[in-house]
Amino acid sequence: MITVNEALKKILMNVDDLNYETVNLNRSLGRVASHDIKSNLNLPQNNLSSMDGYAIKYKDAIVINNNPSSIVGESSAGKPFEGNLGKSECIKISTGAVLPINADCIILKEKAIIKDSKIVLCNQKLRKNEYIRFKGLNIKIGDIIIKKNTKITTRDIGITASTNQRNIKAYKKPIISVLSTGNELSTVGQKLNRSQIISSNSFMLQSLINSLGGKCNDLGIARDDKNSLKNKILKSKGSDILLTTGGISIGDHDLVKSTLIDLGLIVVFWKIAMRPGKPILYGKLKKMSVLCFPGNPVSTFVSSIIYLIPLINKLQNISYKTPIKEAIISKDIEKNDEREDYIRAKLSFLKNNEIIAEPFPKQDSSMTKILANSQGLIIRKRFANAIKAGSKVLVIPFVYINQSL
Ligand code: AMP
Ligand code: MG
Repeated sequence: MITVNEALKKILMNVDDLNYETVNLNRSLGRVASHDIKSNLNLPQNNLSSMDGYAIKYKDAIVINNNPSSIVGESSAGKPFEGNLGKSECIKISTGAVLPINADCIILKEKAIIKDSKIVLCNQKLRKNEYIRFKGLNIKIGDIIIKKNTKITTRDIGITASTNQRNIKAYKKPIISVLSTGNELSTVGQKLNRSQIISSNSFMLQSLINSLGGKCNDLGIARDDKNSLKNKILKSKGSDILLTTGGISIGDHDLVKSTLIDLGLIVVFWKIAMRPGKPILYGKLKKMSVLCFPGNPVSTFVSSIIYLIPLINKLQNISYKTPIKEAIISKDIEKNDEREDYIRAKLSFLKNNEIIAEPFPKQDSSMTKILANSQGLIIRKRFANAIKAGSKVLVIPFVYINQSL
């Protein structure tokens, strides 16, 4: 058995870059930019006023109380004043409107006293260039507005649109084919006989994959026979990852590994020193990464946290490390054996940023209610010593990975 860290290293090695495609800005939320996105515009394109008032030359403004200035026109948002200001001339201006080229001062509307279309008095402490947004203040031509290999946010979409770009280049979504295996499995909505269970893994995995920006190709359920497995596995052609659940242990009906080998799988490793998730298999079918998880839903989920999420992020060039935090354990824990243990736990986040971790007493990997009620996993390293309540432990809080986990 290899260790969790060795396994993760091997899975993340030899991952090829995804191709990219042009994506409409409206559909780009959560996609990953494959190139730096630059602006072809200065924003603002001209010098603008940031206040309602009067645009004037500073040298005319400072003498205005002795030498009134004539209001010779108006610049409003979208309707600029064409031309320059003459001596002792100003124009009315509104917020966001273009300044005449030679104006370098704004008199605020509420600070000016007007008589016969002239400013006759101004009680403002005047400053040159105050209340002016200069051309390119926000963004200059050539500025990078979205960095390559970052996930597009709503703010990114807004700024890109503001630079008059309709599309962006993003990596193609990684395609993950998901295959559930087991004679006992049925799909949601079917009447169950007493030996059947619903293939819930498919649903959990599909939603997880979607939340990570991947595209799930659900291959459905294969029976525990080689023909059924082969037929389904062949449908994964063209995917970046084939992910199977179930049928990977040493039982007589566990045929996933041997079937994959018949189809040409190069096995990189089988079995990891972890709990849950021991029988995990990883290999390559040509360029496709093949991950086989045990069927217990808790094992599938924990394995996804430790291996699948990093792999999908790596494929999209997103820099990602499983978030690990320190917490205080609320109960004594026994010493650990040779398998790294991931213990489902209730996490309480205190005001002083401390986390209290309370392990659930039952850790059976079929117990999905306990998983659903947990907020994270306590990591127990291989051969860790017994610890007392109040000791420090490491935890993976789910919310730190993804709000929808
Ligand atoms: P296996 O890894 O095939 O030995 O399966 C281990 C346990 O997980 C068995 O109790 C299965 O019934 C259950 N299981 C296998 N596949 C799924 C699935 N897709 N959804 C939910 N439970 C499953
Ligand atoms: Mg099975």
